[in-house]
Amino acid sequence: MYHLECIKCGAKYAPDEIIYTCKKCDGLLDVVYDYSKIELSKEDLKGPLSVWKYRALLPVSREPISLKEGGTPVYHIRRIGEEIGIKDAHVKHEGMNPTGSFKDRGMTVGVTKALELGMTSVACASTGNTSASLAVYGARAGIPVIVLLPQGKVALGKIAQALMHGAKVLSIRGNFDDALRLVREMCIENGVYLLNSINPYRLEGQKTIGFEIVDYFGWEVPDRIILPVGNAGNITAITKGLNEMKKLGLIDRVPMMTGIQAEGSAPIVKAIKSGSENITVESKPETVATAIRIGDPVNAVKALNAIRTTGGTAETVTDEEILAAQRMLAVKEGIGVEPASAASVAGMIKLRKMGVIEKDERVVCVTTGHLLKDPETVIKMCESPIEVDATKEAIRKVLGQ
Ligand SMILES: *Cc1c(COP(=O)(O)O)cnc(C)c1O
Ligand SMILES: [Zn+2]
Repeated sequence: MYHLECIKCGAKYAPDEIIYTCKKCDGLLDVVYDYSKIELSKEDLKGPLSVWKYRALLPVSREPISLKEGGTPVYHIRRIGEEIGIKDAHVKHEGMNPTGSFKDRGMTVGVTKALELGMTSVACASTGNTSASLAVYGARAGIPVIVLLPQGKVALGKIAQALMHGAKVLSIRGNFDDALRLVREMCIENGVYLLNSINPYRLEGQKTIGFEIVDYFGWEVPDRIILPVGNAGNITAITKGLNEMKKLGLIDRVPMMTGIQAEGSAPIVKAIKSGSENITVESKPETVATAIRIGDPVNAVKALNAIRTTGGTAETVTDEEILAAQRMLAVKEGIGVEPASAASVAGMIKLRKMGVIEKDERVVCVTTGHLLKDPETVIKMCESPIEVDATKEAIRKVLGQ
């Protein structure tokens, strides 16, 4: 029903081969289905949103390792929309997944696939959320988990999850890109299953974000989907999924896929703006949005293609713009997201000001992770609680009554 295929040279591999890139040219792999054999109608897809609702387009046959991922809410952000002049602006809040980020969609499929392939241990490098999610799904599957994190650059809530759910947590004296290079080599040498977004099966789970967005809007395709870009797996996964829906005749076009990166960590944006086929690696990526602090995105080639073929774009935002958007979502809309997630909304605001986004577009920003993932950044940017004596007089005085 499906096989692995190199996006560069077209080499094909059996679905049960343990490989992460092409053996001939090192190109990225895609899961390719025999679409003529898949029959999927809107009628078949009635019912609540969830990752496993779309299992006809997921590459596993065994019982899933699941904590009920997906089915995340879409919120119409009226106040922000009014302020910036986009009436039809929405947020899909992926922070509402079981571990608080969209990574769960990839891990429920990826860890299920690991068991199906007979693998007995799993590993990843992570800016935080991937490790939290893998720790949880590994625990659920009952297999050991190893995670490599860049020292000092992972948000507190994410480390807490990885530790509490029993992963072996290694803090690498280096950045994310160093951690990923190491874990890739070690997984291949030691027969451990690698669950970074270079793993095409993990991305299959993440494509369900796109399915859920069009499903939620009654199969009406929004004009634009905006998301933060780090390793660039998510933007490529969502685009692949929507292209599949189009192939199956469920939708007639794919939204303009729009990627946002932090100014200090923006290789994809630079390549899009310069029209280049390849990225220039940034050796010292820096941003408050640690989840997208990545200088050498592994899925760059796929992501550039996704953005270009859908008529989308890519833009940078500053850390100040990210934090302002995070606060705006929190205060004006009641939506709590971590800094990287707010990059999507900061990008929407900037692109509207630039006139790239038009006022009557239907825009969906994917907010990738929950506010509570990164409490330290929040505490630093907000005022401290006001300390008062335990009397009504003291409280009234502070409240100005
Ligand atoms: C992983 C992550 C991203 C980046 O996703 P990529 O697929 O690496 O581009 C963005 N935001 C959050 C909160 C994440 O955890
Ligand atoms: Zn190849």
